[in-house]
Amino acid sequence: MKNLVSYPHNSIDVHLTAVERKKSSDSKRKLISIESNIRTDYTEYDLHFHENKLENIPVKPFYQSFKSDLQSLYDYQNSTIKEVKGHIEKLQVRTIRNTCQNCTINSANTLDHILPQGEFPEYIVNPKNLFPCCSQCNSYKNKHLEKDGEKLFLNLYLDNLPEEQYLFVDFEFDENDEIDFNYKLENKFKIETKTFSLIVSHYDKLHLLERMRLRANEVYSEIENSILSGLNKLSTEMIFEEIKENISNDQRAYGFNHWKCVLKLALISDMKYKKYIEEKKERTRA
Ligand SMILES: [Zn+2]
Repeated sequence: MKNLVSYPHNSIDVHLTAVERKKSSDSKRKLISIESNIRTDYTEYDLHFHENKLENIPVKPFYQSFKSDLQSLYDYQNSTIKEVKGHIEKLQVRTIRNTCQNCTINSANTLDHILPQGEFPEYIVNPKNLFPCCSQCNSYKNKHLEKDGEKLFLNLYLDNLPEEQYLFVDFEFDENDEIDFNYKLENKFKIETKTFSLIVSHYDKLHLLERMRLRANEVYSEIENSILSGLNKLSTEMIFEEIKENISNDQRAYGFNHWKCVLKLALISDMKYKKYIEEKKERTRA
């Protein structure tokens, strides 16, 4: 996971443009009539965004009677949303631009409403409230707060991720010498409790440990193949050393706790894995 750069311009202009582009109708007239309320609330959003306190913005019953009018502004095919999506995309570094940073597994093919659009229709086209996301993560994000008012998900525009390792993976060989992986979160390096609980909640609500486990075998096959083909020229130590160097580059590009980096790190740091590779190498030679 990496932080994304948030929309740098005036958010309200996106809303105003979306209203302006609407065809003349009662709905458009209703939206024009609440323009000053929306302006005030966009300012409130910006202030909370700046302090990373979006969870303190209350639901405003006032907007419920304008809900369908506001929702009509958000159509994935319409030019305002396409422009915003394109704009947000271009702000990001190329390596992570098209991947959902909520999971780092799937493509970012949708936009998630950080404050859910059902409760906060006023922010439906607010570009600082829109986060590139995959449809799977998006489907798990139907509420944003715990009953006690705590956030359920990381906001990767704002929440700084720790540099310490918090994602780990265990592996075991089964009777057929196949490897089973098991991802887990552990606070081994004393990350601040509040930050760590938010990470746990984010992984839990998005089912990330299980989704990573399901993808691990596929990635693992690639790793094993590249190790085994390298063994024709290099020793196991040299190959592991090379993988280690690549992990540091990948961590910089994809985030320190990226599941693929964590997987590679676990393999090359494990004696029993080294033994397994060397036995496999012997078997191929025999
Ligand atoms: Zn995702």
